[in-house]
Amino acid sequence: MAADPDALNRRAELAAYATETSACTRCRLASGRTQVVFGVGDPAADLMFVGEAPGFHEDKQGYPFVGQAGKLLDQLLAGIGLTRDNVYIANVIKCRPPGNRDPQPDEIEACERHLFRQIELIEPKLIATLGNFATKLLSGKPHGITRVHGHPQETKLGGRPVTLYPIYHPAAALYTPAMLRTLEDDFRRIPALLAEQSGTPAQVIQFPVAAAAAAPPPAEQLGLF
Ligand code: URA
Repeated sequence: MAADPDALNRRAELAAYATETSACTRCRLASGRTQVVFGVGDPAADLMFVGEAPGFHEDKQGYPFVGQAGKLLDQLLAGIGLTRDNVYIANVIKCRPPGNRDPQPDEIEACERHLFRQIELIEPKLIATLGNFATKLLSGKPHGITRVHGHPQETKLGGRPVTLYPIYHPAAALYTPAMLRTLEDDFRRIPALLAEQSGTPAQVIQFPVAAAAAAPPPAEQLGLF
């Protein structure tokens, strides 16, 4: 099949934008980071995940979700027949907050243009927002994740219609078995939501992934939630 020239162009633009962002000094987090954690995955993915901010391991390795929460995310993806290569994963904040504290409002304001540009270039059909920060930023609404998780919302981002799908953050689910079960249930609906967007049949789902939650919480990420 011939490559879509528009998609190729967007891939090149995303790569160029990643390079540009790697030198970002728009907020105080620039001074404490090892590197900017831009994002990873298929630059033309239909499904995008947006988390909060890089933690210790992400800052060192330069990729989002490489710690315990990332392992759980990988297992949840495998459960719906996907890998990181099939989706795009990014964060609201591209640099690690010190001690993994919550991102501050002015840091989110300084950084949000990077996420919005990523969304504009990737053109995802479905964005799963992981936890409060991504959900509130992309929905533009103050409702917390406990209230809105599992409820798809239609919105417009990067000039295009997109479905937001708020779900619990994997790091929060690592610590709370009930939350993990809810996250699994919400995750289970992703293939059908994607199929609704693209008109293709939903995939087979294999769950549970509870083994992932047996891991002890990583001390360096306790401050995130
Ligand atoms: N790792 C990330 O990359 N993002 C989060 O939100 C948490 C852990």
